[in-house]
Amino acid sequence: MPKPLTIAMLSIHSSPVGNLGTRDTGGMSVYVLALAHEMGRAGHEVDIFTLRRHPDERAVSALASNVRIVTVDSGQPVPPAKNDLHRHADDLAAAIETFRSDNGLAYDLIHSHYWVSGQVGRLLGERWKRPQVITFHTLAAMKNSTRQGKPEPVERQRAERQLVHSADALLVACQREKENLEKCYAADPERINLVPGGVDFERFHPQDRAAARRRLGFDRKDFILLSIGRLAALKGQAQIIAALAQCDDDVRLVLVGGDGPADREQQRLQQLAARAGVAARVVFTGSIPHRELPAYYAAADVYVQASHYESFGLVGLEALASGRPVVTSPVGIMATLGQRQQPGCHLTDGSPAALAAGVRALRDDAFVWTPEEIHEAVGEFSWPRAAAAALAAYRGAIRQRPSDAACDPPHDRGSPASHSGPRRMAALDK
Ligand code: UDP
Repeated sequence: MPKPLTIAMLSIHSSPVGNLGTRDTGGMSVYVLALAHEMGRAGHEVDIFTLRRHPDERAVSALASNVRIVTVDSGQPVPPAKNDLHRHADDLAAAIETFRSDNGLAYDLIHSHYWVSGQVGRLLGERWKRPQVITFHTLAAMKNSTRQGKPEPVERQRAERQLVHSADALLVACQREKENLEKCYAADPERINLVPGGVDFERFHPQDRAAARRRLGFDRKDFILLSIGRLAALKGQAQIIAALAQCDDDVRLVLVGGDGPADREQQRLQQLAARAGVAARVVFTGSIPHRELPAYYAAADVYVQASHYESFGLVGLEALASGRPVVTSPVGIMATLGQRQQPGCHLTDGSPAALAAGVRALRDDAFVWTPEEIHEAVGEFSWPRAAAAALAAYRGAIRQRPSDAACDPPHDRGSPASHSGPRRMAALDK
């Protein structure tokens, strides 16, 4: 048996226990938490480092067996906004190093999520002489190529290009993202590892539609389209509203996600719905806790996704695991599933007309697949399997770059010392 690993997981800009479906919290949080839980269950020790957002937030919280969240201070009076965080990478790295040394820890590897964490992880990797593996989750070059929403900062694209070459390994959640990394940043395919996202099958499985509708107060007779995710131009909710206008009058749309009525994107979408004459047929729920989503999937007839870009797209998979057919644009894992004719996965070009035609086709077919068949077809996407793939990539990166015990204090995770604020690393001082 290989020895269990001690992993520093960096999720700096987004708290893994934040409100899913709001601005900066989504699939990455689900992915980070699920991987950490599985690794902890398998006996590995995982510390997830994230930005401290409120002064009264605890420095260290136990999350699950062998998994802790450690909040770190940026050294600024007010926590910096997501796009400014990279300017404080050295302070954040110093705060993590302070925690490590105060607690006499040694990490075998750093797994950074998103480019901001990648920059902090690069500094730590140099200091600790440990490998850094990175999952970018999305790529600035890809997001910018869709021309949806505001362009990503130039620093982000530059940093991703550098990190692609400095990281010991890159993890991607689907084949398409591997191709994107090679195309956008000339990444070395040999160093890219596939670690797909997964589904919690205990949570997401076929359930009774009528019971779910009663519970949520939805009409028994409506034909319900569902779409879940942060409200953003990139997610294509505008196309779904336009598609709704091309569907029969008994078709309704439930949009889950966003920051509620004050959310500017929700207001924009409501105006679009009013202009398209379908305002009365669209329900905005705001963000809904993950544990309550099974009822929404169960209540739906068809799940619709019209994103312009996804680096994976957990929601489509959750819908299929819940036994609901999906009409989708060719993005992320749905592109792969659609191409291999996965039961329940109907690929379109994402235009309103194509989405509406997809919905009609599924309705006319009266669903060739049973919910159980759709569910079973995505059985390979389990979190234990994803964690095993990530661990294999970790071990590969460690083998490639044997550590030289430069910072190997005694390894003891008992009673962590309290976090004492950022202390700049001498090696990082400019
Ligand atoms: N989610 C949620 N509540 C919401 C909206 C989204 O729990 O109101 C969850 C959703 O079920 C999925 C994740 O957030 O697990 C979104 O991941 P996805 O990969 O689809 O999108 P991303 O946020 O990464 O762009």
